[in-house]
Amino acid sequence: MPLLDNYNNDNIFAKIIRGEMPCHKIYEDEGVLSFLDIFPQSEGHTIVIPKKPSRNLLGTNAKDIGRVFGAVQRISKAINAALNPDGITITQFNGSAAGQTVFHTHVHIIPCYNKKTTISHNEEKSTIADEKLVVLAKQIASKL
Ligand code: 5GP
Repeated sequence: MPLLDNYNNDNIFAKIIRGEMPCHKIYEDEGVLSFLDIFPQSEGHTIVIPKKPSRNLLGTNAKDIGRVFGAVQRISKAINAALNPDGITITQFNGSAAGQTVFHTHVHIIPCYNKKTTISHNEEKSTIADEKLVVLAKQIASKL
């Protein structure tokens, strides 16, 4: 699919923004929404998105992407305070050739732990209990 293809309003993150799908919310303001990834690469794996529709970074205006990355830094600090990881990886994929699977611009915040495995982006991901996600979202949001 071309990088600058049309935006599809039926993608899962668009549905989350419209409130048609639930999410474990971490943070929200007028331009940005953040929630836990439901197939996490590690405990606390968080997604940050602009609310305005765009397929990927290339189609997002500079002001909006600036807001997203401001939120990424703030939420990374909250994850650090809440979960005390040994490292934090920030990733962002543009186009299916790069590994993007949900075509609404997003940034991944992936806490890394010395004593726990971090699953890579392309590996089969494990599921996590909904109750655990509820607890993690509360823990992280409380440090914002
Ligand atoms: P991408 O592969 O496009 O960079 O990242 C998409 C991410 O969305 C993946 O990490 C995947 O686990 C996550 N994801 C897919 N479906 C859902 C969903 O319904 N809710 C949430 N919170 N995350 C999702």
